[in-house]
Amino acid sequence: MILIPCPHCGPREQTEFTYGGDAGVSRPGRPEDADDAAWIEYLYLRDNPKGEHVELWQHTFGCRQWLRVRRNVVNHEIVAEEET
Ligand SMILES: [Zn+2]
Repeated sequence: MILIPCPHCGPREQTEFTYGGDAGVSRPGRPEDADDAAWIEYLYLRDNPKGEHVELWQHTFGCRQWLRVRRNVVNHEIVAEEET
């Protein structure tokens, strides 16, 4: 069980949250100028690091705020969190 510390609600079980993906992905700056490779990179390609990873989580069954969570994907330890 992962406990995610919500800045508004306190520590809550992961089942109250919805995973929103990698927080490090950024949309191409000028979409009309991006080529197919840039869109493929943005839409489909993700790193799969071992260790700490920054993720987006929404407190869906709580305050509904989006959080940026730094989580160690090996041991699921939450290192830091902040509101987006
Ligand atoms: Zn909350």
